[in-house]
Amino acid sequence: MDYLPIFMKLDGERCLMVGGGEVALRKTDLLLQAGARVLVVAPSLAPEMQALVDAGRLDARIGVFEEADLDGVRLVIAATDDGSVNARVAELADARGVPVNVVDDPALCRFIMPAIVDRSPVLAAVSTGGASPVLARLIRGRLESLIPAAFGELASLAAEFREAVQARIADPTGRRSFWEHALTGPIAEQVYAGRIEDARAALRAALDAAEERAGVTGEVYLVGAGPGDPDMLTFRALRLMQQADVVVHDRLVARRVLELTRRDATRIYAGKKRADHSMRQESINALLVRLAREGKRVLRLKGGDPFMFGRGGEEIETLAAEGIPFQVVPGITAAAGCAAYAGIPLTHRDHAHSCVFVAGHLKDGTVALDWERLIQPRQTIVIYMGLVGLPVICRELVDHGMAPETPAALVEHGTTANQRVFTGTLESLPARIADADVSAPTLIIIGGVVSLRDKLGWFEGAGPEPGAREVGVWMGRTD
Ligand code: SAH
Repeated sequence: MDYLPIFMKLDGERCLMVGGGEVALRKTDLLLQAGARVLVVAPSLAPEMQALVDAGRLDARIGVFEEADLDGVRLVIAATDDGSVNARVAELADARGVPVNVVDDPALCRFIMPAIVDRSPVLAAVSTGGASPVLARLIRGRLESLIPAAFGELASLAAEFREAVQARIADPTGRRSFWEHALTGPIAEQVYAGRIEDARAALRAALDAAEERAGVTGEVYLVGAGPGDPDMLTFRALRLMQQADVVVHDRLVARRVLELTRRDATRIYAGKKRADHSMRQESINALLVRLAREGKRVLRLKGGDPFMFGRGGEEIETLAAEGIPFQVVPGITAAAGCAAYAGIPLTHRDHAHSCVFVAGHLKDGTVALDWERLIQPRQTIVIYMGLVGLPVICRELVDHGMAPETPAALVEHGTTANQRVFTGTLESLPARIADADVSAPTLIIIGGVVSLRDKLGWFEGAGPEPGAREVGVWMGRTD
């Protein structure tokens, strides 16, 4: 972060505004809304500014800025059209440790002012760190349409009940869940419709009911995190990610995806990688049960889709047997994500009318696959976990009768900034991969459809130079 976002209490505090024009007026207005006592220093004042002075809402000193104007000041804004005055204000204020903002001159600013959506007491502030004020305003526009006008009243009602809820629901998790229901359901709707009294009564009733229900079990969300690019999460996945108390994740979950989980949630790494199971499947199953029994909302986050080579099914079998509530959220599986980002339509009519997904990991140095079935004509083969087995797989397919010139591709770190796609044939691909410093996760696609990539490839990752690659994309080593 280039700036630390904070909200500053200025009620009754002395603030200095250097400048008396239109821009100064807008900023002064914000300071006054925050309850500050503002002194304006300027050689002359815009009429509206003068009106504020006449109304006794503002102090003014007509003249040029002097160092003594900073005495006893909590915060200063310079909004003159004279660059040298602005620079002097910035320098002197900074030397005294008084936070300073120079309008439209980020280099001189100790603090910058965000675009805001005001639903007091709720305030949403947006900053682009000075990179693009227009972009900040665009985001603000979206937030304006997203946050109901009466959101402030809802917050005030919540404030009114805060202590009572704290006293009557001792468990913090229970409390959070109480508020989440209260603030998103019918009670909130009543507030938006202006029926504050009804909402207050409903909130009181909900609190009584919640107290009785204390001690219920939590829930497990088995969620597909998609192949890597966070944009590929579903809305439901994102919603559950932001409300879960505990996150149990795999190594295959991309870091940028995990960062979208609730900041204060506990994160537990249960990654499994080839030949080294950091946590045995039974322990993961038991962990999920235990956490839910403690009343937690548990997010079991898995790469891709949870039911696709992910053992998600086994995890919920245990939950079902133990009577723990759960829900499953599908994700974009690696085959779909990698094919799209590599420009390879898996069932393009000219080349394929079926597509099979298989796991290609080696068991005791061999790959146990039904080769006869795989080599069907006009069939695309997608192989998960096939990097180590690639040479064996290609050889076996040819030995069982597939043409050595059948197109084949390997997609490394699909959909992420580090995506690389290697293409060739059953004959040439293994050698091409051998000295390309490829690392898991990778997905193999075999069949005529691979040839379409030449025309349809559109997404370029970081390319082959190791220096250009993003480090730490995944939550653990994936090979
Ligand atoms: N449930 C996951 C698959 C888990 S098995 C899903 O639906 O995608 C792990 C295998 O998935 C990896 O060995 C690799 O073959 C594939 N995979 C997952 N993410 C990938 C990615 N971003 N790029 C390439 N392959 C990926």
